[in-house]
Amino acid sequence: MNQPTPEQPADVVARLRATFRTGRTKPVEWRTAQLRSLREMLTRNGPDLAAALHADLGKSSAEAHRTEIDFTIREIDHTLDHLDGWLRPEPAPVPAHLGTDASAWTQYDPLGVVLVIAPWNYPAQLLLAPLVGALAAGNAVVVKPSELAPATSAAIARLLPAHLDTEAVAVVEGGIPETTALLAERFDHIFYTGNGAVGRIVMRAAAEHLTPVTLELGGKSPVFVDRDADLDVVADRLVRGKFLNAGQTCVAPDYVLTDPATAAALEPAFKRAVEALYGTDPSASGEYGRIVNERHFDRLSGLLDSGRVVVGGDSDRATKYIAPTVLADVDPESPVMREEIFGPILPVVTVPGLDEAIDFINDRDKPLALYVFTESEATKSRIAAETSSGGLGHGLPLAHLTVSDLPFGGVGESGMGSYHGRYSIETFSHRKAVLEKPLS
Ligand code: NAD
Repeated sequence: MNQPTPEQPADVVARLRATFRTGRTKPVEWRTAQLRSLREMLTRNGPDLAAALHADLGKSSAEAHRTEIDFTIREIDHTLDHLDGWLRPEPAPVPAHLGTDASAWTQYDPLGVVLVIAPWNYPAQLLLAPLVGALAAGNAVVVKPSELAPATSAAIARLLPAHLDTEAVAVVEGGIPETTALLAERFDHIFYTGNGAVGRIVMRAAAEHLTPVTLELGGKSPVFVDRDADLDVVADRLVRGKFLNAGQTCVAPDYVLTDPATAAALEPAFKRAVEALYGTDPSASGEYGRIVNERHFDRLSGLLDSGRVVVGGDSDRATKYIAPTVLADVDPESPVMREEIFGPILPVVTVPGLDEAIDFINDRDKPLALYVFTESEATKSRIAAETSSGGLGHGLPLAHLTVSDLPFGGVGESGMGSYHGRYSIETFSHRKAVLEKPLS
């Protein structure tokens, strides 16, 4: 199924670079035509892609559409609606010493040949949404799907060449050897989504060619729950955000920080919320996903005894099922708190109050997302001012990344650079400074 492309990475890149040099990818008409074809690919082949996502991750068709296929269609539509405006040169004031007849502006130039490396957890969205931005900015693009989502990788390798300009867009399937070979080539930008260990490998390889990188990484995204919050609303929204895709979401709430009384009151609320969403036996719910592979299943199973089980706790290796699980009385030094969980386990850690919660967050790596549930504007302001995270969500996890006009990206250990909407144009273009002084 997973046929490697016969063409060698060096040949792929050389071919795409030759195309870029002809100027073919630069006209806005070419860009919008590619985006429209990609849109058509998604609408026409939505069921095929959803089936692949089900095969790889047990995603329900509704979830596959909502979080991957329709998500990408929305990104395309938003880009098509605004691209002309985003690409418009921006005039800059000219200082007096250049005279009144001089003018200056910035213009967005495509970078050239861009490499997009995608992970397995949202294997369609996290490959196609960067592709949308790279094409909209007028680049030739090599995409490398994750080998850990083989059905989706194969579907993308089949569908993209049938819909996009194959002289300018190439799919290279494969794992570490293929990616290593690609990374030896010179690109004009590398856009990597995945874990920080590989992020470092990517950045090292990019340094050889002085290639700029965007690193969309992960980490532990905390949730602060204030004692004034409506805990049924909190539990419902956290359960929906955490257990989507069986917790395998880069911006999933990783752990809850709250005071001991609120932690105790949250326990029955979590039980009600899980049951309302997935029934008494989530393994029988068509809406609940599975763990991507045995390695991650074993890693996650080893974290289940890091605290007292409030909800869930059961698992089945044969079907890679781990129940939606909430753990209480979790020691901050326990294994579940030492790594990004990236699975359906939600530990609750208690702190005396807001000051200690802020210290707890600032003592650790800067997270990709931080979520806050409070009615207090003062608390919201303090957290916004005193912590650093890729994104900040008040009252609703995950949702900030669905706002096309917000940049999506990390800070510190959670990554560098951002994308979505006009921020993708910033990422995949060079903003060229231009000065013009008439000759006469
Ligand atoms: P993964 O294992 O699929 O790896 C990502 C990509 O890196 C794949 O295409 C893979 O082939 C490639 N790769 C793996 N090892 C490599 C190596 N040694 N050299 C070169 N390339 C290599 O996915 P993953 O890293 O397990 O993804 C999970 C991580 O990604 C989590 O930390 C998660 O938080 C993060 N993530 C971040 C975002 C975001 O948008 N910021 C989104 C999803 C996932």
